[in-house]
Amino acid sequence: MTPDDPAIAVTDLVKRYGNRTVLDGIGFHVARGTVFALLGANGAGKTTTVDILSTLTPPDRGNVSVAGHDLREAPQHILRAISLTGQYSAVDKILTGTENLHLMADLHHLGKGEGRRRTTELIERFDLENAAHRRAGTYSGGMARRLDIAMSLVGHPEVLFLDEPTTGLDPRSRQEMWTIVGELTRDGVTVFLTTQYLDEADELADRIAVLDHGRIAAEGTAAELKRLVPGGHIELGFDDPGDFERVVRDLPNGNRNEDKLTVEVDTDGSVASLKSVLDSLDPSVTVDRIEIHTPTLDDVFFALTDTGAVNANEVSREAIAR
Ligand code: ATP
Repeated sequence: MTPDDPAIAVTDLVKRYGNRTVLDGIGFHVARGTVFALLGANGAGKTTTVDILSTLTPPDRGNVSVAGHDLREAPQHILRAISLTGQYSAVDKILTGTENLHLMADLHHLGKGEGRRRTTELIERFDLENAAHRRAGTYSGGMARRLDIAMSLVGHPEVLFLDEPTTGLDPRSRQEMWTIVGELTRDGVTVFLTTQYLDEADELADRIAVLDHGRIAAEGTAAELKRLVPGGHIELGFDDPGDFERVVRDLPNGNRNEDKLTVEVDTDGSVASLKSVLDSLDPSVTVDRIEIHTPTLDDVFFALTDTGAVNANEVSREAIAR
């Protein structure tokens, strides 16, 4: 595998349970050392996708390569290169944090010395020093989740699957998790994340795919996805009524607010569109305030999936078809 090869490559992936098609020919690439988020409502097929990519469930059709290994030809190589932190913790509550990590080190055949060294390193890194010798059953949800991820890193995986890693965590623990995920990619680990939290995908993911009815409804960076839905606009604000009037004249399609002395212009949220609006103004005009409003990922999700009330036809179909 060369550095330019994707960490995960999926084409035409199909999975059926009985006569229900859960995945209907999905495809995506995940670059190495990046975070890829698969977004979808309950039952959209996120866990099924993770289960297939991590060799736990066989697909009905499609090509899958993970860490440079073909799923059909070398699933055992994939297993050695990945780690999976599922929705249900792998932490043994009877054991202490240290014992859980030692157990994982044994499973990875690290040897006693290396296993202890790695355990100490991970206990420190995940801020579990004070709880290392306590039974994991006494840990808070956030601590248990940190231990869970620490355990999944014992074997230095190239690709880490995190299935809904922050479900049920309080805001502080979620923030800690996000910091941890950011640090992982800086170390070169590729993270495949499933989440129902749009802010999580927005915060963490380099690229996001929205799964709906077994298909990828859209894929791109958070900024690209936000440009797919209407609602982006720039608001220009003025102190001088003369400037305001001149801009109203130069931007006939803008929405004016004479009380606030503002003009609102629809854009796709890109820098190019902002530049084009500013370039169209008379150079003698002073713009005192600029606010850029972009749609949120929530808007994207509601527009692209049946979960929301907004009709998908409102979305730029051309952009989705990229
Ligand atoms: P959630 O966010 O609720 O975890 P999800 O997006 O991860 O949902 P999956 O768990 O992948 O969704 O399930 C997708 C669909 O496939 C669901 O309708 C589920 O009931 C069905 N399904 C999953 N596993 C099986 C199975 N082993 N046998 C039959 N149906 C299954």
